Amino acid sequence: MSQLNKADWQAKALDLNIEGRAFINGEYVDAVGGGTFACHSPIDGRLLATVASCDGADAQIAVANARAAFNSGAWSRCAPAERKAVLKRFADLLEAHAEELALLDTLDMGKPISDALAVDVAGSADAIRWSAEAIDKIYDEVAPTSADQLGLVTREPVGVVAAIVPWNFPLMMASWKLGPALATGNSVILKPSERSPLSAIRIAQLACEAGLPKGVLNVLPGYGHTVGEALALHMDVDTIVFTGSTKIAKQLLVYSGQSNMKRVWLEAGGKSPNIVFADAPDLHAAAEAAAAAIAFNQGEVCTAGSRLLVEKSIKAQFLPLVVEAIKGWKAGNPLDPQTNVGALVDARQLEQVVSYVEAGKAAGATVVTGGTRVLEETGGTYFEPTVFDGVDNAMKIAQEEIFGPVLCVIEFETPEQAVALANDTPYGLAAALWTRDLSKAHQTARGLRAGSVWVNMYDGGDMTAPFGGFKQSGNGRDKSLHAFDKYTEIKATWIKL
Ligand code: NAD
Repeated sequence: MSQLNKADWQAKALDLNIEGRAFINGEYVDAVGGGTFACHSPIDGRLLATVASCDGADAQIAVANARAAFNSGAWSRCAPAERKAVLKRFADLLEAHAEELALLDTLDMGKPISDALAVDVAGSADAIRWSAEAIDKIYDEVAPTSADQLGLVTREPVGVVAAIVPWNFPLMMASWKLGPALATGNSVILKPSERSPLSAIRIAQLACEAGLPKGVLNVLPGYGHTVGEALALHMDVDTIVFTGSTKIAKQLLVYSGQSNMKRVWLEAGGKSPNIVFADAPDLHAAAEAAAAAIAFNQGEVCTAGSRLLVEKSIKAQFLPLVVEAIKGWKAGNPLDPQTNVGALVDARQLEQVVSYVEAGKAAGATVVTGGTRVLEETGGTYFEPTVFDGVDNAMKIAQEEIFGPVLCVIEFETPEQAVALANDTPYGLAAALWTRDLSKAHQTARGLRAGSVWVNMYDGGDMTAPFGGFKQSGNGRDKSLHAFDKYTEIKATWIKL
């Protein structure tokens, strides 16, 4: 763990040499059209870098290079053990550059530096290493055929993968895609969010340093409606893997149909319920977890526990515990290692959060703590963790993803009502429940339409289990061996004996 203090991080931030160009075929290049956009820090509004604004012309070049690299076989046909070695070196390099990468994500999107180090960089290296370690231990199949035939069932890389990722965990969402995509032998074009492009640009060079052949990993910063759309409509991109909003996820399905029916794998939004039954084993622990579930990463988390469903009989006792716990989450300068709530990603996000808080009040819900912008004098975009009581699940604040530190407290009386309320949104990413009754835990978990369910905990998990959504939270899964399905085609080869 880093021993740096706030002043050390601030000094390091000023010393950083930030690269803003695209990375194509093993080198940094400007956008073909010369376009750029300014990248500001939400911590204090300062200009961090001028970043290449790629568009369709850059997509053409990157896809052509990715395809050529794929066809050369330099990566796609090299032995899994060799790919493993390169990717493990890549993971080692991420760790060796942990402070620099953490700083890039913190400056770029405002998350606390302690989390950037412990969660984002550590989780990214882990994701790459886990996929690398797995790839030379996976066997293909021989079909149970008649004696005069041999049926081979083999997995092949899909080819050129475009990975379009969001800004809330810039490095980690990219790594969840890069690990399995590269381990299985694909060429990748990574399109980071225009709101946090810096760490993605940096790691392309580290991947090459680790031994990844030229053209296998390309990074195209730029806007969604320009370079993102160009990749999604491209006739020579085989697969899109996406993490981001449900709105854009749906649009990608349309692009696929309008172009080459490329495979589309979507990790989208959420409005996750956190159900606290009266027989929860430890109400203090449940309250601490409920606070963390909405305040961690400024609430800019796809699995944020944004709807707290509380059994009526304990609500008067439980809500004060939650309010107390959430007061331990305080917005502050993300470069201070003590800070646990940083800045929202930008002014647009701040506006979005403010407008939802206004909508909640207008609908009749009550703010019991928070509700306002703070630290405005810093030039940054900070918002206090906020709790709304008296929320009806039909309200806009309970149905739509706010993507900020705003918690909706909703009452229920029976387990059946809790499950019905929990499932009553378009989303199905994650859910949690708290009870000491084993049967109730299993029955409730079975009833929840969500890709991840946590019992007596919130937001647990590591690389060993799949992660993804039901309903409009997406399809396919990141993490675990299931993620490899997105990056491989299955081939049946029949041989007459
Ligand atoms: P977003 O959908 O606005 O953008 C995501 C990416 O898509 C960005 O790189 C963006 O530039 C690109 N994009 C935008 N328009 C595009 C277009 N027309 N064509 C192609 N690409 C386009 O999402 P965001 O605001 O960056 O991220 C927040 C969202 O991500 C939230 O909804 C959150 O729940 C979701 N998220 C989901 C998961 C998960 O694993 N399910 C994880 C993290 C974040």
